[in-house]
Amino acid sequence: MQRFGKVYLVGAGPGDPGLLTLKGKTLLESADVVIYDALVSPPILAMVNPHAVLIDAGKRRGRHSRLQDQTTQLLIESAHTAAIVVRLKGGDPFVFGRGGEEMAELVAAGIPVEVVPGVTAGIAAPAYAGIPLTHRLYSSSVTFVTGHESAGKYRPQINWAAIAQGSETIVIYMGLHNLAVIVAQLQEAGLAAETPVALVRWGTRPEQTELIGTLGTIVAQVEEQQFEAPAIAVIGAVVQMQEILAECRPTI
Ligand code: SAH
Repeated sequence: MQRFGKVYLVGAGPGDPGLLTLKGKTLLESADVVIYDALVSPPILAMVNPHAVLIDAGKRRGRHSRLQDQTTQLLIESAHTAAIVVRLKGGDPFVFGRGGEEMAELVAAGIPVEVVPGVTAGIAAPAYAGIPLTHRLYSSSVTFVTGHESAGKYRPQINWAAIAQGSETIVIYMGLHNLAVIVAQLQEAGLAAETPVALVRWGTRPEQTELIGTLGTIVAQVEEQQFEAPAIAVIGAVVQMQEILAECRPTI
């Protein structure tokens, strides 16, 4: 019987190395091969076993440095020759990170694999900006949604009207590119122009920046400030808490 190494699908968290799990850190320190994505922060890569082979599989929007199936192929090949293979992904591997797809492909190839969850940017970036996603006065529900749907999905369109009506806090990943369309659809669905919006770029990293506005103003603000990805958008009354909580933000 052929013996394989094991692949660990590890969530690196949003950037601040202090938010990496202990399990993730131990695996990075003992890995033989680490295949990482573009959004993994430099201080986390610095924790990797210096003897490990470090491979960049990054694929930012429009800059696919490696195709998805090539990455899976690389993981399979690595597991044939190395004992501990870490597939390191920004945030949590199962939240808009294609972790589910990669894991299923490894299972199909007969490679032992397990997941190590990470702190997702949709929670951590707002937190570091002073925005709690729920609050007894403002919100009892949160929806995590992608603003950028990939081609060939099982369901081609997000129902923004249903989200607007069904969720008090909306957290959008990869939302900047389509922000104008999303904002228009949410307003069409009945959200007021005054609904607070926050954009948090490079959340939990030293370069974190925020843009605070409303559904009515945010698109113009993004253009004016030339605010760029990667950013998390938070929409809803909880954004107001930023005025009170931002002064005691974590030190990064
Ligand atoms: N698996 C990741 C998300 C991958 S999708 C997670 O759980 O966090 C990539 C998107 O995540 C980016 O376009 C951006 O919207 C968001 N993102 C990731 N890291 C971020 C960070 N540090 N600050 C703000 N947004 C971030």
